[in-house]
Amino acid sequence: MSQVPNPTGTEITASGVEHLSWIQRAKETGQDRARNIRDKHGTNDPFQIALEGDIEINRDTWDGFDSVQLLGTYSDDVITLYEAQIDRVADTADIDRIVLREAVCSHELAHYLLEQNPPEWRDQYSPIERVLRWLPLRRTSRPSRRSLEECAAHSFATTLVPESVVSFAQQSQ
Ligand SMILES: [Zn+2]
Repeated sequence: MSQVPNPTGTEITASGVEHLSWIQRAKETGQDRARNIRDKHGTNDPFQIALEGDIEINRDTWDGFDSVQLLGTYSDDVITLYEAQIDRVADTADIDRIVLREAVCSHELAHYLLEQNPPEWRDQYSPIERVLRWLPLRRTSRPSRRSLEECAAHSFATTLVPESVVSFAQQSQ
């Protein structure tokens, strides 16, 4: 996907991105948010950013299931990192464990930031539109809000932690 330059570093207005696809918008949001938060805190260390933002980080040793690779979660101002899962994926994929932890933390940090300051595409559907889009004849080509958020969070993580530009960050929720 090609990138649209945004030299101001601020978020593009809704009208300015009308021509972009929804996914592209989400990706841009992730990139912009990552650059902004890095500039604000003067670091790209997601753990330090979380600390300064009063976001709690839990470490859980839950080992999950073989078929599920849940590396991290975000809920109610708390990021949880599933250390055993992270270790396993790092081992299996031969990825630096430190980088993977940073990538997962960044991804979950993005969910926090998107919740704190919702992008214009987050409320793309009115309640009635949400209902209608599940009816067969009214399906739209717009991705779900959830998938847009995942796209933005992934884009955020790969911008904040450039070493993590691999698909593993998409595995986290
Ligand atoms: Zn996610």
